[in-house]
Parts: sequence; C-alpha cells; structure tokens
Amino acid sequence: MSNKEKKTDVILIGAGVMSATLGSLLKALAPEWEIKVFEKLANAGEESSNEWNNAGTGHAALCELNYTSEKPDGSIDISKAIKINEQFQLSMQFWSYLVNSNLIRNPQDFIMPIPHMSLVQGEENVVFLKNRFKALSKNPLFQGMEFSDDPEKLIEWLPLIMEGRTLNEPIAATKIDSGTDVNFGALTRMLFDHLKNENVEINYKHSVKDIKRTSDGLWEVKVHDINSGKIECHTAKFVFIGAGGASLPILQKTGIPESKHIGGFPVSGLFLVCNNPEVIEQHHAKVYGKAKVGAPPMSVPHLDTRYIDNKKSLLFGPFAGFSPKFLKTGSNLDLIGSVKPNNVMTMLAAGAKEMALTKYLIQQVLLSNEKRIEELREFIPNAKSEDWDIVVAGQRVQVIKDTDAGKGTLQFGTEVVSAADGSIAALLGASPGASTAVHVMLEVLEKCFPQHMFEWEPKIKEMIPSFGVSLEANPELFLEIHSSTAKTLGLSTKELSYS
Ligand SMILES: Cc1cc2nc3c(=O)[nH]c(=O)nc-3n(C[C@H](O)[C@H](O)[C@H](O)COP(=O)(O)OP(=O)(O)OC[C@H]3O[C@@H](n4cnc5c(N)ncnc54)[C@H](O)[C@@H]3O)c2cc1C
Repeated sequence: MSNKEKKTDVILIGAGVMSATLGSLLKALAPEWEIKVFEKLANAGEESSNEWNNAGTGHAALCELNYTSEKPDGSIDISKAIKINEQFQLSMQFWSYLVNSNLIRNPQDFIMPIPHMSLVQGEENVVFLKNRFKALSKNPLFQGMEFSDDPEKLIEWLPLIMEGRTLNEPIAATKIDSGTDVNFGALTRMLFDHLKNENVEINYKHSVKDIKRTSDGLWEVKVHDINSGKIECHTAKFVFIGAGGASLPILQKTGIPESKHIGGFPVSGLFLVCNNPEVIEQHHAKVYGKAKVGAPPMSVPHLDTRYIDNKKSLLFGPFAGFSPKFLKTGSNLDLIGSVKPNNVMTMLAAGAKEMALTKYLIQQVLLSNEKRIEELREFIPNAKSEDWDIVVAGQRVQVIKDTDAGKGTLQFGTEVVSAADGSIAALLGASPGASTAVHVMLEVLEKCFPQHMFEWEPKIKEMIPSFGVSLEANPELFLEIHSSTAKTLGLSTKELSYS
C-alpha cells in the first residue's frame, strides 16, 4: 500500500462503545468522510464495553444514590441526577433513530426494561431516601418512582432480598419501572456491523504504538499489525483516542499541551455471578445500596438482574480493587509508564491525598471469597457460597488532574481532552460511562468540529430531538420522547403523564 492510500479523514483508535458511537454519528453527519478503526483485540467490544466487564446499568440516576447528595440543611441536591438522566435520554434517542432507520436491528438484544431500585437500612438512611424520593418524584424525568418502608410491600418488590432478613432497624426502598439493563457489548458489536456496512475500514489485531503530528498538520498513527508483525503508518485529519483505559498513554504520546499534568488511577473490579437458576428467577430488578463510608462511588454494591445472550442472569458487585493495569488485557507496567515529568507532581499529590482510597482498594483486593459472600448477604441474607462464582470485570482508569480543589485531584467522571485546533480528542475516565456515550461523543463533535455544527444541527435534531434542549424544562417533549423511544426499543409499556 502506498502512503497516499494510507491517508484518511478520520482514525478511531479502539473498538469500544465510544468509538462505535462517534463513528456512527460521523457516518450520519458526514457520510462521505473516510473512517478507519484500529483495534488491538480480535473483536469489537472486548474490553470495558463487554457485557461481562461492566454492570450494564442504563445510568439515568433512577437508583444510584451517589448522584443525589444531601445538603447541610437536609434537603437533597438533585441537579446531578437531572444532568445524568438528560444525558441518558440522548443515548435512548440515538439508539431509537438507528433502530427506526434499520441501521441496527432487534433492540431487545441490547436493551431490556428492568425496575431500578434503591435500598437502604437504618433510620438516617431511610430519612435520606424519603427526602430523595420527595425531591425526585416531583420532577418530570423521574415520573413513576414509588417509595415504601412497609416490609410487606418490600417482600412483594424484593422477595429474595427480604427472605430471612432480621428487621431490627428501619428499611426502605424506591422503585421505578422505566429502568433499563443495557448489553453494551452487544450494542458495540451491532454498531461496528453497521459501520462495516457503511464502508468503514475496521482493522482488528492492530495495536496503535505511536502518534505524532506531521509537518502538513495531519496526525500520523503508527500501528502494529499483530498478525503480520509489520508496522504501518496511517495519517488522518482527525483522530479520536477511544482506547478506554489505554487512552491516557496514547494521549501522552501526542505531546499536545492539553495532555500534560494529567494522570490515571486504575481501579479493578470483580462481580459475583449466580449459577443457580432458582435463585436467579426470584429476583427482577437492579438494586443499588449506599456506598460504605470511605468507599469510592464506583464501588457502590448492587444486585442486578442482567440479560446476557438472551438469558436472565444475576450479578452482585462490583468489588473494587487495585491493579496497575490500564486495561483488563493491559500490562503491570501501565501505571508506572504513565508517570511523566509533567504529571509526576500531580500523581504524587493525588497519592498523598488518596491514601484512604488506596488502603480501601487494597483491602478489597485482599477480601476472601467468604468475605465477599458476607457482603452479598447484606443483600441476600440466605445466599449460599456454592451458588456464586467470580467474574473479573473491566478496569476503570480514573482521571487525576489539578483542579480548583487542589493539585492531584481524583475525578470520577468522564473527560474529553482535545487539542485547541480540534484535530485530536481523547476520552478519559469511566463514569457514568457507556450510558452517556452519545452525550460525550456530541461533546467531541462540538469541541472538534465547531465549524460544521451549524450545518449538522438539523440532522442531529432529526436523530436526537432533545439535542440542545432541557427536557426537565419541557415536560411535554420529555413525555413524547420517552414514549416513542420506549416503543421503538421495546421497553416499558406504562404511559407516563405529567400534570
Ligand atoms: C466494573 C465496571 C462496571 C461498569 N458499569 C457500567 C454500567 O453499569 N453502566 C455504564 O454505562 N457504564 C459502566 N461502566 C463503564 C463502561 O463500561 C465504559 O465507560 C465504556 O465501556 C468505555 O468504553 P470505551 O469505548 O471508552 O472503552 P473500551 O470498551 O475499553 O474500548 C477501548 C478499546 O480500545 C482498545 N485499545 C486499547 N489500546 C489500544 C491500542 N493501543 N491500539 C488499538 N486498540 C486499543 C481496547 O482493546 C478496547 O477494545 C463500567 C465499567 C466497569 C469497568
């Protein structure tokens, strides 16, 4: 192949849900652009986006207690919950557009309706949950949420969790039926099939080794073809680094000023997966509890009904832990290799500040299986260890950067880092993650292609009617969108109404 043939408009590094989403948006907005994808593994969606590597929660802040914090006066701040919910609605609209346009099929293979519930015990926690319910249920986005502290009702809602439970302190739950379980692995694979049909060149077993700016302003990506052992050089006008946990080291190679003073802190995960069909059948919800004191938000325990390979499963976790790898298939040298002269102070500051977190994660790694089952018994008092196996989840690399809150501050969200001229962007961080992929990739478009946004806006609005509009402030539009996406994606048939 000549160098000329290796020139393209767009290179996407990594075949996870983020590259899949960006590629699908770009193919709709600029169908004539040539796109190439380089993925080091043999298939799409094999790292964090894989169904066994994440919890599959369609994060819409319906049940995750860490998105609603208690203010000093006891009232509940729901602003973050509203933001996350609105972001999830963007994903639902884009997925519906793809289904309605026959670009992807059989939505039930990647999204299923499942009640989202929060469960707490203890007087203080019950008061918090009740206040949270009062604040959220007034909001159009959280219509249909129910609260109960009546044990009889809870037995009806949560038979497996209530069986054998000693009720020596108050207990309460909220339930909302419009929650979802999303198989992000299946979705990623469907999106890559669609991209292949659109003539996107997808190169599996191609690992990106280096990236640098050429004298004519393009980006040159050096790729190792794992099968042939050869090194290829490809150039593009725009590069997206969607390499999951490995995005940080690739971003560092670009040398752009925006890549400096940023570090990454890897957090590993484990799930317990139930192997007893009788137990699996007794539960039908995603149930989120409250994080233990000192535990990071991503380690909030939850008991999840999942749909994987068209089969109902039951998972508990994730148990967070520490591993120096940036990907599940990464290397033990990833963390140390990411420490550079420009971020060493940021990393050291974070190390000093986050001693409690490090200690917590190390304790989690050292948990014995019996200890993990004990944690599970806080959810399922009668859980038997022989009914549960362990699966290793994906790696999450949390961003560390200098913020107004101080040097070396650990971030729990996702972060788009882009060059000032918009020629390259990377996605760092992992939460709320895949659920908000459409929102985050629209942010990439806004940051990197401002000159095209005016021309693209009508198509974006056709695909995602609430783009640029607050659904909270437009309840009628929310109801319309909620009902049409639910119908297209085969979700809850319950009609919401808002007065
Ligand atoms: C334990 C856990 C639970 C989670 N739960 C949820 C949840 O319930 N809901 C939710 O919405 N999100 C959840 N997430 C987050 C979600 O999984 C991620 O945000 C999302 O999958 C990230 O997608 P990605 O495309 O950025 O990365 P990935 O899916 O990791 O894809 C990156 C790809 O890049 C490839 N790659 C890496 N380096 C190179 C290279 N040098 N050359 C070529 N290719 C490369 C990798 O092989 C991989 O295929 C969870 C994550 C974890 C770990």
